[in-house]
Amino acid sequence: MIYLDNNATTPLDPRVIEKIIPFIKEHFGNPSSLYPLGREVKTLVTEAREQVAAAIGARRTEIIFTSSGTEADNLAILGLAEAQPEKREFITSSIEHPAVLETARHLEAHGYTVYYLPVDQTGLIDLDFLRSVISPKTLLVSVMLANNEIGTIEPVEEVVKIAHRYGVPVHTDAVQAFGKMEVKVDSLGVDLLSLSAHKVYGLKGTGALYIRKGLDLRPVLHGGHQEFGLRPGTENTAGIIGFGEAVRILREEWLKDKNRIEKLAGRMKSGFEKKIKGIRFNGHPEKRIKSTLNFSFPGLPAEAILLALATREIYVSTGSACSEGSGEVSHVLLALGVSQEEASSALRFSLGRFNTEEDVDQTLAEMPEIIDELRREFAG
Ligand SMILES: *Cc1c(COP(=O)(O)O)cnc(C)c1O
Repeated sequence: MIYLDNNATTPLDPRVIEKIIPFIKEHFGNPSSLYPLGREVKTLVTEAREQVAAAIGARRTEIIFTSSGTEADNLAILGLAEAQPEKREFITSSIEHPAVLETARHLEAHGYTVYYLPVDQTGLIDLDFLRSVISPKTLLVSVMLANNEIGTIEPVEEVVKIAHRYGVPVHTDAVQAFGKMEVKVDSLGVDLLSLSAHKVYGLKGTGALYIRKGLDLRPVLHGGHQEFGLRPGTENTAGIIGFGEAVRILREEWLKDKNRIEKLAGRMKSGFEKKIKGIRFNGHPEKRIKSTLNFSFPGLPAEAILLALATREIYVSTGSACSEGSGEVSHVLLALGVSQEEASSALRFSLGRFNTEEDVDQTLAEMPEIIDELRREFAG
């Protein structure tokens, strides 16, 4: 099997599995319990929190564990809305993950005014548009750090400079950027930042939200005092401890990993461009996560290519796991100005830690054949 869908989810790192097995088997204590069985688990949850905090240059007390990147995004936006009910305007981009876009729609349904920043044909947001709509009435600006479908890296530092002039806080969904580029809360200047474990070789069902010290947020779920009172519910201890281990590995190996994966992806990109005529690369030529390759294959439905690849055990996606199978084309590509036709022919190849030279060679060998075959089929 050749897995080229690492932006959808990553396989678990075996070291993460090793780390969590004892916690599934024996250390079942509740971290809120005061006797040793609970306290030892609490210690490990704290260590995981320290790892995540250190990785993004934050303090331990600024990290809240959640059930997912999606929940972190929701808590950032809705938690701030709860704290500042008088601010009724929200600004985000038109290419966010559904976790942010659908939360924006929810605010709209509750009477908020939401501005969706347009993007250029490479996926970069329009900062002039931001300047024209931001005001002291703005609750929050939420702009993702790296896009999950095309990999474009947004100018979040610039967004912060503009927003802070109005005293408006900034959230960034860094789920896809984390582990693939430098992500530091102070150099970005952001006030809120979302992460997810299963995009960095940890377990599904664990996320984290960074909340800058002093920013007032309210919980959106109600219950116990866990996570500094901001996210009630007994902690997903195995998920959190695994997240800590995944982040420990990242902190030690991400640069080496990044260089290797980017080299593989670069070879795949130039191989495609050389061997397959008439394809179109979607995204920014430079400001992008290099392990993400999004190509349109005009004239062919993406699903047909995806299924042909799957029969050869090569797994890719049409970009957004959430719109997969729904027949809808990517809102991200449409926002870039890609035609409906070209958007419906787009596939995302996303590489990760466990991809090899052979994976790339094999894919480069199979793809031209598949495309030729399908072109004959769809032409006749
Ligand atoms: C995967 C992803 C999410 C959602 O994270 P989950 O943990 O799967 O809920 C949010 N934003 C981006 C950019 C993502 O790629």
